[in-house]
Amino acid sequence: MSTPMPKQELGSALPAARARLVRELRAQRIDDGRVLAAIGKLPRHEFVEDAWHTEAYKNKPLPIGLSQTISQPYIVALMTQLLLQGGIRKKVLEVGTGSGYQSAVLAEVFAAVFSVERIKPLAEQARARLRRLGYRNIHCGYADGGEGWAAHAPYDGIIVTAAAAEVPRALLKQLARGGRMVIPVGPPGHQQLRVIDRTPHGLEAQDVSAVSFVPLLPGKV
Ligand code: SAH
Repeated sequence: MSTPMPKQELGSALPAARARLVRELRAQRIDDGRVLAAIGKLPRHEFVEDAWHTEAYKNKPLPIGLSQTISQPYIVALMTQLLLQGGIRKKVLEVGTGSGYQSAVLAEVFAAVFSVERIKPLAEQARARLRRLGYRNIHCGYADGGEGWAAHAPYDGIIVTAAAAEVPRALLKQLARGGRMVIPVGPPGHQQLRVIDRTPHGLEAQDVSAVSFVPLLPGKV
């Protein structure tokens, strides 16, 4: 068994570990400076349990308990970059708060973030964590995000971090004109990351890459 790295040591290794991650993302064609700056700045280790601290700056997903995962940094970066390419950066809805890491990345590049999670302990943990880290522009909700968050709609951006069999109608309804949704769609093993734009001529969709997400589930627990 390997001995966990003492906190102090991790602390001094942090800037180098983050810089390495940013270089890896650049090599994977993440080229939006705002996204790279956010990932270069955020303490991803604060979003996972202590046992995973030394893995936190590797480009891979990690468990966050209750059978859920914090997404791979590359996927977080890709989805954020796709949303930014949609153009408008005011209000974004995230479905699947999980650890809150993606919410924090969004909060660095959007004016206001609304994020919903269906598992109560995760929703509460993420809310407390994001408050502790000083984010005032993230609003966390405990709800079935398949229904969106109608009270604050419409959204310029909608990002879903769990895979849906089909794009939920409620989310399409809450997407503003000129807005963009990024959502993984399809059954396990056959998911595609889909980008949907609400253009003046209606909805336009394109699939951009194969992905692997936990499922979007109905109801809250
Ligand atoms: N964005 C997260 C990724 C978490 S994994 C992060 O950065 O850590 C996906 C999350 O989606 C899980 O926490 C899961 O509970 C949540 N989820 C699944 N279906 C949901 C639904 N219908 N509404 C809200 N959250 C949902």
